[in-house]
Amino acid sequence: MLAGIGVSAEKYVVGTSADFPPFEYVEDGEFVGFDMDLIRAIAEVEGFEVEIRDMSFDSLIAALKSGNIDIAIAGMTITEKREKVVDFSIPYYTANQSVIVKEDSDLNLTVLYGDNNVGVQTSTTGDLWVTDNLEKKGILTGKVVRYDTFVLAVTDLVNGNLDAIVLDSPVAERFVDSHPLKEVGIIITGEEYGIVVNEGNKDLLNKINNGIKKLQESGVISKLVGKYFK
Ligand code: GLN
Repeated sequence: MLAGIGVSAEKYVVGTSADFPPFEYVEDGEFVGFDMDLIRAIAEVEGFEVEIRDMSFDSLIAALKSGNIDIAIAGMTITEKREKVVDFSIPYYTANQSVIVKEDSDLNLTVLYGDNNVGVQTSTTGDLWVTDNLEKKGILTGKVVRYDTFVLAVTDLVNGNLDAIVLDSPVAERFVDSHPLKEVGIIITGEEYGIVVNEGNKDLLNKINNGIKKLQESGVISKLVGKYFK
């Protein structure tokens, strides 16, 4: 084939919410992390190109539905409610929810009861858990503060404007390592992350699932786990 002549690969726009280390975050102006490496590796083995676009977690599903993005990868948990409107790949990671407080706080898991203020990121599984199990039942009588990003919630917790945050365990561990915060408990949810496409986009979903399987078999996914988790 002559140089420069060939069929150019399909390009897909990938939405993420780059405040979820170690899955997606920004370093030196680049989108990096487990999910970013994963989607780039899938694209490579399946022969497509990706363009990453950053947005709030809360707007990813709407962006898929409106066609603004083709794929979402953001440590998104496969839930029944989401499955009604979008399609998920096979699972690629399992997580739980963690409860974190300030390092010098005397509170333990009781922080989830009574008049405490608990931060979550809007529309995450942590938000749903706190809303359904604590807020609606009147167990937590303080405020549930909903943030666009975990980074904003962590800042408020560090500054003493919140008593606790409920968030995915692998990400909580990362924030605890880099801030004066500690984990006081884990809520075992056993949730599984999937890559997301719009409902009915079977071709693209097949490519993604095939890519995940190939990368599982070739050991690339285990290598990524080793790279981002100790
Ligand atoms: N796994 C959680 C969810 O799906 C949080 C994901 C995130 O904040 N990026 O709701």
